[in-house]
Amino acid sequence: MITATKVKLYPNKTQKVLLEKHFGSCRFVYNYFLVKRDEYYITHKDAKKSSLNYFDTQNMLTELKKQYPWLYEVNAQSLQMSLRFLDNAFKNFFHKNVEHPKFRKKGGKDYFAVPQHIRIENNRIYFPKFSEGIYFRGSEKKLSEIKNINQIIITKDAGYYFCSIIYEIDNELPEKKSLSAENSVGIDLGVEKFVTLSNGIAIENPRFITKMEKRIKKLQKQLSRKKEGSNNYRKHILKIEKKFMKLRNEREDFRDKISTAIAKQYDTIIIEDLDVQGMQQNHHIAKSIGDVSFYSFKQKLLWKADRYGKNIVEIGRFDPSSKLCSRCGNSKKDLKLSDRIYHCNVCGLTIDRDYNASINIRKFGLIKVGLVQPEFTPVETATSGLHGIYPYRQMSVVESGSPKASAEG
Ligand SMILES: [Zn+2]
Repeated sequence: MITATKVKLYPNKTQKVLLEKHFGSCRFVYNYFLVKRDEYYITHKDAKKSSLNYFDTQNMLTELKKQYPWLYEVNAQSLQMSLRFLDNAFKNFFHKNVEHPKFRKKGGKDYFAVPQHIRIENNRIYFPKFSEGIYFRGSEKKLSEIKNINQIIITKDAGYYFCSIIYEIDNELPEKKSLSAENSVGIDLGVEKFVTLSNGIAIENPRFITKMEKRIKKLQKQLSRKKEGSNNYRKHILKIEKKFMKLRNEREDFRDKISTAIAKQYDTIIIEDLDVQGMQQNHHIAKSIGDVSFYSFKQKLLWKADRYGKNIVEIGRFDPSSKLCSRCGNSKKDLKLSDRIYHCNVCGLTIDRDYNASINIRKFGLIKVGLVQPEFTPVETATSGLHGIYPYRQMSVVESGSPKASAEG
């Protein structure tokens, strides 16, 4: 089984310099070949071989190093990994309708990868060019299970250095529970509420995250009054970056807790196959959607379901989960995004919009895997005896939101 963990690095002065050289060289190689690949494409568009591939750039890199000998100072494999990342970016651009690869800017998201010769011992991580090992904190217990390290990615965030370790452990995944309507749940991912479950449980976006966002906005406003390029300006930017980092950690922590709680609790979890990119094009909901990061949440849920032997059923995103009445099956075509309450003109059901959708999602999922007949049948466990808005219960997991140890050290 492959898993990953992130630790905070504490490099000494010399190691910091060498880390910066790695960031810089990998960025340089990435940007250099981004231009080369574009140039080649422009001049060879109609030729039989219209673009450079990874191996072409790898060969060219050997020549480039002779021209810029400082490239020899860094791990050759990290430079090659930079070419791999670029190659993937181009593949996504050509085949997956993703944006054209962008230049990596200095001071942006700096990173480099190390694919081989990595060793962890006594809270130090050793890899080529870092023979003394870099001290790190966090995840010692987890890391004791390591069977084999596949790769590490070193990143810099708000002036701190981090290492994501991707590794194999001996643990085999448990066998999946058999699909059953019993202990199944439908999940609606929303803007107002983070998730709404088909049994009436709603989980709100945590307040500390909203608070932190406000604080960041205030800091950003203050920045405009400082002189660009001054010491104070730089200090202020670092302050904002640190807050952003904390916010990212809080959100990640929140998604971790919620996905774990759901995967542990339910045997069959039904969720919409969301097209996040498509949703983000809708300006009104773009911000919130990005904030609550559905994509990351779903990835976590998929992974945790595997880990606990649970089932995930994905339903098509064109299934009308919000428009359909969960009691009588009437379809309400004029339901607007702003309508928070679903009121059915046919049977009179008045219900929270997201709750109604989550009940439908569960039902669509059960139909999809053949546990429920396609004709409309109300889901007994979720709707029996419910009239009006179901009182929401809150999950206790939302209350805590401590930042991750790995980030705070
Ligand atoms: Zn109805």
